Amino acid sequence: MLKNKIKMKTNKKRIHFILYCSIAFSCLLGCKNSEAEQNAIIDNGKIELSFDKNTGAFLVFKNQENSFDFLDSKKLSESLWKIDLLQPSGIKTIDMAAATSFHFLKQDTHTLVLTWNNFKEIKNKNFKVIATVKLKEDKPLSLWKFSVEGIKDEQVSRVVFPIISGIKDLGDENLAVPYWMGEKMKNPRTHLSKIKGKEKKYNFEYPGRMSLQCMALYNDSKKFGLYTSCNDSLAYKKDFSYTLDSLNCLTYKMVNYPSIDIKEDVYAPTYEAIIGSFKGDWISAAEQYREWGSKQKWASESRFKKGSTPKSIEETALWEWNRGKSNNVLVPAKDLEKQLKLPVNVFWHWWHGCSYDDGFPEYFPPREGKESFITAMKSAQKEGIKAIVYMNQMQWGTNTESWEKEHAIDYAVKDINGNTNTHTYNIFTNKSLTTMCMGTQFWKDKYSSLCDSAVNTYQTNGVYMDQACFSFLCYDKTHGHPIGGGNYWLKNFAKLTQQIRSNFPKNKDVFLAGEGVNEAWLPYLDAFLTLQVSMERYAGDNGWEPIPFFQAVYHQYAITYGNYSSLIVPPYDELWPKEYAPKNPLALLDASFNKQFLMEQSRSFVWGLQPTISNYQSFLSSERKEEIDYLLNLSKVRYNGLKYLLHGEFLRSPEMDIPKEELEMSRLSIYAGKTGNTVTAFQKNCSLIYSGTWKSDDNQIGIALASISDDPHHIDLMINTEDYHLSSSGRVNIIDANGVKYLADYDNGNIQISYTLQPMQVCIIEIEND
Ligand SMILES: [Zn+2]
Repeated sequence: MLKNKIKMKTNKKRIHFILYCSIAFSCLLGCKNSEAEQNAIIDNGKIELSFDKNTGAFLVFKNQENSFDFLDSKKLSESLWKIDLLQPSGIKTIDMAAATSFHFLKQDTHTLVLTWNNFKEIKNKNFKVIATVKLKEDKPLSLWKFSVEGIKDEQVSRVVFPIISGIKDLGDENLAVPYWMGEKMKNPRTHLSKIKGKEKKYNFEYPGRMSLQCMALYNDSKKFGLYTSCNDSLAYKKDFSYTLDSLNCLTYKMVNYPSIDIKEDVYAPTYEAIIGSFKGDWISAAEQYREWGSKQKWASESRFKKGSTPKSIEETALWEWNRGKSNNVLVPAKDLEKQLKLPVNVFWHWWHGCSYDDGFPEYFPPREGKESFITAMKSAQKEGIKAIVYMNQMQWGTNTESWEKEHAIDYAVKDINGNTNTHTYNIFTNKSLTTMCMGTQFWKDKYSSLCDSAVNTYQTNGVYMDQACFSFLCYDKTHGHPIGGGNYWLKNFAKLTQQIRSNFPKNKDVFLAGEGVNEAWLPYLDAFLTLQVSMERYAGDNGWEPIPFFQAVYHQYAITYGNYSSLIVPPYDELWPKEYAPKNPLALLDASFNKQFLMEQSRSFVWGLQPTISNYQSFLSSERKEEIDYLLNLSKVRYNGLKYLLHGEFLRSPEMDIPKEELEMSRLSIYAGKTGNTVTAFQKNCSLIYSGTWKSDDNQIGIALASISDDPHHIDLMINTEDYHLSSSGRVNIIDANGVKYLADYDNGNIQISYTLQPMQVCIIEIEND
């Protein structure tokens, strides 16, 4: 926060000259008013940005079309940037207030250069901070570039820029964030205000849980808002956040993490922050980001887009996510495949010799023994089932024998204070895991050799790399990578997957899947686990709603799968302490939660994921017949529409009336149960009809519909062909489990669809262009 006005003692003449030039220049362009003359203003007819002439503080961010200023005129004064310097005494943070001089230069009508210098507290007299703010031609967007000079012999560990403070309430406010698959929150200020503690903040790490670099804060009824993103195509480490202040204003921040290098004299990221206003909702923001994102190397190099993903993963009709020995995993999968008559693949947890979440990476031999495992694996493959096995790609159990024996601590991630990143996930054993550093060859060798064993010795079809789409800052100088920030984590992940794949057999379909999803990982993984479709089960009713933000930007570049959707209570690892084990491990969940299962499957279907059932057991085909039949039918319908639901590009669905109902939700996880209170239940108002619209490569449209209603529901759609770039005439078909059926013709650019969805019906309305 700026407490003191900046004293302009030095460089006075120069600043006066620049100010004079800037003011004279803006007068030439047409003086507006006296206030405008005083401050640094740029305006492209779409947005106007104004900065304080004395301090550089950001004062006005006006959308010209509706004269809406995003910034509160009574806002708290906050620095536009903050720099952390690592000093022997600890971290020293400096901001605008530390500069004794500031000047600005209006480089052209759209570009402002803001410069702060003369920092009393910095020894290097050349230390200077420069922010360049440039408006886009004909777009309500501004590009913000940062550099700090004269940093030789200083250790810059963090740069917060830009800091956009004083963002006022937009009304009917929604915040959409690509938190892996994507989440949206209504009235974020209300939820933020409930956070206990001093800082009321939502923070998202990139590259990591923040799967792409864009957020949208918008008014959902007036359909306009604030678009914040970044055009970094090399996935440098950063954080994006929104914080609520005491005046109910939001502050948007982008935190950049440079690699610490005392020899460098300048830190100037190659990328820019993008701040703008936009019309529409989160889909509009996603479309805007897609224009940039789909042109980046990660899109053209994506394994799926390039055709490098093995065919058998593309052909997956249904995933079964089971845990334990092969008779609890591969045997039920065979049963599923017999019923479905389409490819079922297996996502296999708890096959390993060690106990889950504490014994990693001592995975081998499998808990059922080598012979039994290999025999079961081969038998499943004979019936067309492919299985990938769980192995965490960054954690090492601190209580394991190998931790000591292999001196794993030397290769673990160290924070800025030299501490390891150790966390206890396992609440039953209370044994912790420590994050290993991807930048070390030791860890890459270790994990590659585990994958080699899984695929070549134990005959699996590949590995699920848990916690794959994460990255860390590591400050261990002995590891040989740049210190602190940068983008070495991802570069080393690329090397790791290359090393793993070099050991894969050539004549077999073997693949690598990973946890989460992220644009930067598209060239390295074959499939991505996105669990937000079932987020009620792990997050409860926390105010966030799942949205297919990632799929809206990158669906045709990535295979996404996964769902916690289950009809029985979550399993308990037999290697965990017996005292906490549930009495009836395969107990059915109460039938009141059946709709939750259907809802999760419907979301997954319409949003273009490969369907997944968790904890499948053969008895469910009779005990939960309706739900299993629904899943099998949905998988078949999807299989007849892969050009949309696997390969298609996301489009906005046409407007339709959607009935809603209060549904019973269960919140439960593998770690619930210690206290005996296995299921937390709550009610949630949910849609009974789900829709997702996709464009195929040959420019046809598929509108996926899934009803979880007990009643028929009539749908009337009025579609203007121009809105979807279609020719003015063609046919409408219905795709279901049996194939494609003609419904009606259309012409004159108007598509009128009148269709009654039967209870629990799943289909795709196909619009076939002439
Ligand atoms: Zn390291």
